[in-house]
Amino acid sequence: MIHHKTIPLYAIFFLLAFLTGLAPAQAQSANSALSMEKKAALSRLDALSPEYARVAMKIWEWAEVGYQEVRSAGLLQEQLRKEGFRVESGVAGIPTAFIASYGSGKPIIGILGEFDALPGVSQAAVPSRQERPEVKAGHACGHHLFGSGSAAAAVAVKEWLQKSGKQGTIRFYGTPAEEGGGGKVYMVRAGLFDDVDAVLHWHPSSENRASATSSLANISGKFRFYGQASHAAAAPERGRSALDAVEAMNHMVNMMREHVQEDTRIHYVITRGGEAPNVVPAFAEVYYYARHPEMTEVKDVFDRIIKTAEGAALGTGTRMEYELINGVYNLMPNDALSRIMFNNLQTVGGVEYTEEEKRFAEQIQESFNGKKPLLASAAVIQPYEVTEERNGGSTDVGDISWVVPTAGLGAATWVPGTSAHSWQAVAAGGTSIGSKGMMVAAKALALTAIDLFNDPSICSVAKAELLKRRGEGFRYQSLMGDRQPPLDYRK
Ligand SMILES: [Zn+2]
Ligand SMILES: [Zn+2]
Repeated sequence: MIHHKTIPLYAIFFLLAFLTGLAPAQAQSANSALSMEKKAALSRLDALSPEYARVAMKIWEWAEVGYQEVRSAGLLQEQLRKEGFRVESGVAGIPTAFIASYGSGKPIIGILGEFDALPGVSQAAVPSRQERPEVKAGHACGHHLFGSGSAAAAVAVKEWLQKSGKQGTIRFYGTPAEEGGGGKVYMVRAGLFDDVDAVLHWHPSSENRASATSSLANISGKFRFYGQASHAAAAPERGRSALDAVEAMNHMVNMMREHVQEDTRIHYVITRGGEAPNVVPAFAEVYYYARHPEMTEVKDVFDRIIKTAEGAALGTGTRMEYELINGVYNLMPNDALSRIMFNNLQTVGGVEYTEEEKRFAEQIQESFNGKKPLLASAAVIQPYEVTEERNGGSTDVGDISWVVPTAGLGAATWVPGTSAHSWQAVAAGGTSIGSKGMMVAAKALALTAIDLFNDPSICSVAKAELLKRRGEGFRYQSLMGDRQPPLDYRK
């Protein structure tokens, strides 16, 4: 269900703005100065929203994990093809990666769309913990909304290009396996962004924000130890435990935490630890992530993690092999583009709940451990900031942002206070709360693309900012070296 802002709330806003002396003129001009073409694009997106909400809900139901998103990528391609986009699928050696383009010549504006789910977070669209028996994964990062909302934006921009007769190309990038698979890294490495003038993206969130901020650089890898199996009680001296090696490695890494820069993050899961206590484990595997705001620092930390694995193998008489799984740059903020995105997000406004949605949201909030922000904050646009400060996560959008000026926004698709990667995120993402937030993002993306087509000089300013921020002599090199996409990392 898509719900529009009601007139009384709108009136209350202006009354409050007037009473508190908060620049009502500015708010008013943002709306009255809204061009006819932008108004038309917004109403077109209102018309498209039921269809794209259905697309999102299908992808939510399928909950396909990284590089396995065959149906999800297929559905988005089908949507764009039927709207007249030229679709190139299986790009960068990845079956589920694709590019859908419309128009010709410069400027070329890219909009990103993700669609992979997370393993282990199966959840129904209900406000209490309830797994879906038919799937093991869930859209706990809201990428079903990310892909569908971006596709809706691309369609609205295409229609605007048609009507306005403006020159330029709109490109939708279908980018798989964001969660640890680094789909975009391989797309950047393949040169698929080389001719793009600006890239726009968004992410599901529990609030609305379009600031120029960064994220953490990240390298991950799987460490595999090979030992010798034997009877754990009758012939332990003949065995060499691969699990011992994993434990020794983890112990060393945990001591290492004291001797790394404070803003380093290291986390691991033991993915294989043996099968039975009476068999000395001949094989064990541990999966590591290292993160830091600076890409060079994260490289150093990861090199030291490799040393602990080598030491652990030596000491336990086992053999170690490691596989680099993913490596992404920190996000490069772009003030020139982000300001335009922010203005458009303000024009669009946030998400207002119906009574039914409020009840759902209140129940979700009852399950929170921490603070419970006001539900009304879903309707608020957070103030604009330019900051090098990193939000806790990492994203493979990072690599794109070092080669093309890039700006993103967050839209309130989740109940205020919700953490990404939680069952609460899956639950709200499967309801009208999720699809309403998705349309906020789709609208802000479309208006921003229209601004860039109308005034391509903004792209040049944004490019100059990128060149300045990344410094002299920068040449993009993927952190993945020449490894092929890890198409089986979720198998
Ligand atoms: Zn995520
Ligand atoms: Zn995500």
